[in-house]
Amino acid sequence: MTSYQKFLQVGIALDPIHVGAGGAHIGRVDLTIVRDPVTRIPKIPGSSLAGVYRTYVAMHYEEDRQLKLQQGQQSEQQSEQQSKTRKKPYFPDCAGLGLDQKNGHCRYPNCPVCTVFGFAAGAGQEGGFAGLAAFTDAHVLLFPVPTREGPKWVTSPMALRQIGLKVQGVDDNAVYMEKSSYYKLNLGWLLLPVRECDQISKIKKKRFRNLWGLGYTSDTSGTLDTSGTPDTSGIPDIFSCIPNNLALVPDRLFSHIVNSNLEVRTSVSINPETGAAEEGALFSYEALPRWTVLVWEIICKNPKYFKVRGQDIQVTMDGGGEMDTPKKVCQVAAKAHPYMEYLGIGGMGTRGMGRVKVVYSGDPDSGQSIDSIDCTSPPSQGGDRS
Ligand SMILES: [Zn+2]
Repeated sequence: MTSYQKFLQVGIALDPIHVGAGGAHIGRVDLTIVRDPVTRIPKIPGSSLAGVYRTYVAMHYEEDRQLKLQQGQQSEQQSEQQSKTRKKPYFPDCAGLGLDQKNGHCRYPNCPVCTVFGFAAGAGQEGGFAGLAAFTDAHVLLFPVPTREGPKWVTSPMALRQIGLKVQGVDDNAVYMEKSSYYKLNLGWLLLPVRECDQISKIKKKRFRNLWGLGYTSDTSGTLDTSGTPDTSGIPDIFSCIPNNLALVPDRLFSHIVNSNLEVRTSVSINPETGAAEEGALFSYEALPRWTVLVWEIICKNPKYFKVRGQDIQVTMDGGGEMDTPKKVCQVAAKAHPYMEYLGIGGMGTRGMGRVKVVYSGDPDSGQSIDSIDCTSPPSQGGDRS
């Protein structure tokens, strides 16, 4: 029996995403986003993800509870039904910090929100619970960049490591693509020679088919057949276009390309009395652009190893059965995914920002070995290398 398991999640930004670093900065933009301190690549902190997941999972179970209450009132055996439905609301009580003694976290061992996300020790009450699910930061996997050949999704060996791909030979200041080209390619303002890496088509077929949810089917022919896939509605053709427009660059260029192609918006405050722009209230903010592909992990502990306030964890799953494995803990957390697609993550949600569609919610350890990609040019083509 495993004590924990990691579940890889892949999401695509349907809107620009702004997770603010907090405070104003002197520089190109006023409101900056969170970055990795070492690579300087923007990211979404795991703490932000955990908060979003908690809120949306609580919303899901509250909707479910309301539905059961309504059904109970209509039903013949009203009293029996109602006794099965809990009185305390999941939302907003079990969402948030939950420090309020009366309206805070319920702390029940059968609460899917409090067991999966944990709860704080309330005032005058004994210890809290750390929660069964932990969230890593969400990192950029593929970053959309305008080129003269249309949008390309840029990635690097470091970024591909996150989905179990080991890439070698991406050493030159060049962009590595499926086919080489005589002409240089512009990634934003950066003009780079194009090198061929025939291994990219392999990643496309093997890995991206899986991550795009296309791997849910038993079809292994390698074609982008979308029959029988999970819900990909709301994502236009761009979805299948991404794997055909991959561009691989060395790690040292990746951060520059990402940071010089972020979306920057400028807003101004409006004076309600005059209806005109407020003097000195112009501000700008940056965001990860739409169609950025992000990757993060949910690490789930085995519920059987833990007790909540001295009692065994006993959470009933939506389809019946108990939450008794790490995978089922992940399934409870994944109840947040449809909400992320509509309500979004991060700031500026009322200004058309933040919606993320999770396209893959799976298990990276389920028989997927580390694949190796070698982009080293063959000796015959090595003459032009500096
Ligand atoms: Zn609760």
